[in-house]
Amino acid sequence: MSAPLVIIGAGQAAAQAVTSLKAEGYGHPIVVIGDEPYPPYQRPPLSKAYLGDEMTEDRLELKAPHLYAEAGAQMRLSTRVVRLLPADKAVELSDGTRLDYGSVLIATGTRARPLPVPGADLPGVFSIRSIDDVKHFRAAAVPGAKLVIIGGGYIGLEVAAKARKLGLDVIVVEGQPRLLARVACSTISDFALALHEGHGVGVLTGMGVTRVLGADRVSGVELADGRVLPADLVLSAVGAVPNAELAAAAGLALDNGIRVDEAMRTSLPDIFAVGDVASFPSRLYGRRVRLESVQNAIDQAKAAAKAISGGAVAYDPIPWFWSDQYDVKLQIAGLLEGFDRTETEGDVAAGRFSVRYFAGDRLLAVCSVNDPKSHMMARKALASPVPATVPG
Ligand code: FAD
Repeated sequence: MSAPLVIIGAGQAAAQAVTSLKAEGYGHPIVVIGDEPYPPYQRPPLSKAYLGDEMTEDRLELKAPHLYAEAGAQMRLSTRVVRLLPADKAVELSDGTRLDYGSVLIATGTRARPLPVPGADLPGVFSIRSIDDVKHFRAAAVPGAKLVIIGGGYIGLEVAAKARKLGLDVIVVEGQPRLLARVACSTISDFALALHEGHGVGVLTGMGVTRVLGADRVSGVELADGRVLPADLVLSAVGAVPNAELAAAAGLALDNGIRVDEAMRTSLPDIFAVGDVASFPSRLYGRRVRLESVQNAIDQAKAAAKAISGGAVAYDPIPWFWSDQYDVKLQIAGLLEGFDRTETEGDVAAGRFSVRYFAGDRLLAVCSVNDPKSHMMARKALASPVPATVPG
């Protein structure tokens, strides 16, 4: 039998790659190696419906487990790839075994960025990336508990919304002058601030955190101005870092994650990378881009399946993303970095509007609040050859 395609990581991109490889008629065995005990599952509900107890664990599963076997893939869960050995065309696993490969697809995703202050490793300090993280967080999130969330980005704010629903006292501390500062304009930031304050969340912007306090468990958070916020639990939501160490040690080129070309090929033969861990050249944006989104994990996995099966691919997507907070759905099409002006359409006070981001005449992105029609039109407009205006 031929040496298998080894997929490292059993997440969103791996699940898609397996079914897409089957659709492409890929003829070699596939082995998926994942270090979590669960078959591939959706992460977005971890900070949304699953955290809020509105979704059961079984509904997180991306595909019924028998579909992987039917696609010719063997799943090896609770197993970590500890070394990638391109010269030997083999991987070493955490159970001490070694596996030869014909080709490799790296889909190792990201992990929570460590909080760079003393006390960050105290019991009671959480981050949310996995089912187990949510289970641990929920065990401590009893009604009336004081939660301090460090980081006012999407995940921090989604958790704030669900924590209020669970009856916690919530304060969000954000180092930037406004919420969602890296990913939205001030119109959206102001809207998010009013939304969360309206639901009883305390918000401190432009405020650093210097220490997490506590003896054998977290008891508070010390702010840059010397104040102390009492805390029973702390959520660190300060971004994610790519799990690229395995690739780095194997000699693959890195560039804010694993460097791939438009067909998901890394710098070494027969090794591909996809999803949150991969940075790809975007002709659309004229630069290298690494995306942390379901859209990107799925579409890159499809592209890699085609490339691994010998097809021609040129991945260059219109990125899109969403966030749910209370009864608000935010949807973002495109990337807004480099915008020099915005246009707002709709009714901000009524909580139904869209903001368009432009660089000169060129439409870069659209952020829609409870406005799904505009979001869908934005995705079409951005995909058109001269994405300058959004109809309607
Ligand atoms: P992952 O799904 O993260 O899977 C990678 C897997 O590889 C993990 O299980 C990891 O443990 C495993 N792994 C790592 N190293 C090894 C190794 N050496 N050996 C074996 N296994 C390994 N995106 C959206 O578009 N919309 C949202 O609303 C949204 N919300 C999110 C909310 C949360 C709380 C989180 C955490 C993410 C959210 N995302 C959202 C992002 C989205 O989930 C990711 O972009 C997507 O899961 C990336 O897929 P992936 O396959 O690259 O990585």
